[in-house]
Amino acid sequence: MSLSDDLSQESACIHAGEVHDQFGAVVPPIYQTSTFRFRDTEHGAALFAGAEEGYIYTRMLNPTIQACENAVAILEGGAYGLGCASGMAAINTIFVHGLRVGDHVVCSDSVYGPTHTLLRTVFSKWGIESTFVDTSDSTAVERSMRPETRMVFVESPGNPTLVISDIERCATIAHAHDAVMVVDNTFMSPILQQPLALGADIVVHSMTKFLNGHADVVAGMIVVKDKETYGSMRKILNQVGGVIDPFNSFLVHRGIKTLALRMERHCTNAMKVAEYLERHEKVVRVYYPGLPSHPQYAVAQKQHKGPGGMITFELKGGLEAGKTMMNNVRLCHLAVSLGGVESLIQHPASMTHACLTKDEREKAHITDGMVRLSVGIENADELIADLAQAMSNI
Ligand SMILES: *Cc1c(COP(=O)(O)O)cnc(C)c1O
Repeated sequence: MSLSDDLSQESACIHAGEVHDQFGAVVPPIYQTSTFRFRDTEHGAALFAGAEEGYIYTRMLNPTIQACENAVAILEGGAYGLGCASGMAAINTIFVHGLRVGDHVVCSDSVYGPTHTLLRTVFSKWGIESTFVDTSDSTAVERSMRPETRMVFVESPGNPTLVISDIERCATIAHAHDAVMVVDNTFMSPILQQPLALGADIVVHSMTKFLNGHADVVAGMIVVKDKETYGSMRKILNQVGGVIDPFNSFLVHRGIKTLALRMERHCTNAMKVAEYLERHEKVVRVYYPGLPSHPQYAVAQKQHKGPGGMITFELKGGLEAGKTMMNNVRLCHLAVSLGGVESLIQHPASMTHACLTKDEREKAHITDGMVRLSVGIENADELIADLAQAMSNI
């Protein structure tokens, strides 16, 4: 990583993670190989002993993967990245690495559904307890801390309510209790929020979303600040095996080149759509960090460089009205996932958050009438026209 520290995010998107190979390739080549030839037995032994730098086997590391890891690490202001097969593979690796039997986790209650389920059903089985708490309320975070709390896991903005947690405050609380502060930065991307600069120790991404941005890859990334954590995390990732592959690394790295540009457009489009929805007579409530009506608007202003592309809203007439709208969109697709160039609309209670019990959803303020919209980079007026015609059916 030789990029200067003061390079802008826009330029870093284009140049971070460049490789300098013998042919002068401008774009990182796809090293579609599972294994790497050793010059001789001494070379192989030296690589395994870590006495020499180089590649051994793609699950351990691969140049195309490393280029993508470097790019995201630079954008996040971290030191090292670890490419994973999916966002969930990345989250699982962080848990396996950082937790042992008897430990306790404090986690945002408004968190990606499978993250919640993983802690509640898998890690609980291994004697690791989790408390799900509204992390936008730092006093609630403080109250949830126990002597055995080893990790605070915050997703901000939260999913799907877009509730915003003060990362700096949560990190201070975590560190006062000797716990590691992890932030899922998927909804913002490093262009709009840099958790490491706010005190987080580890950042995790589902690169499936904004980082790749084209809805054609499932991938994840972990970014850490120091060599020691990197080394031990790399070992765990190598053992649990959920690594990204060279081709997907190439695709994500390619997507990142337009990340700053895309985020700018996601933000302006979503702002227009959110303002439109907030004025609409059939809409009860809009959750969008760019609107002054957002409950944590002040934190958003402090913590984000832009309000992002995600909007959640509630229609008059609740679930039935939402269904009518979602069944009538034409430009937007009715699909889960988010952060792609195309707009996607979905129903959290029956789709992304169906894995939570109704009780858990209520606790996390996820109502049956909520609709989540990932605003793409289409023409904003055409998006608004599509939403208007879909709502006219209600
Ligand atoms: C999608 C998502 C994940 C999981 O990522 P996958 O790539 O689907 O495994 C984790 N966190 C957030 C916030 C997400 O949106």
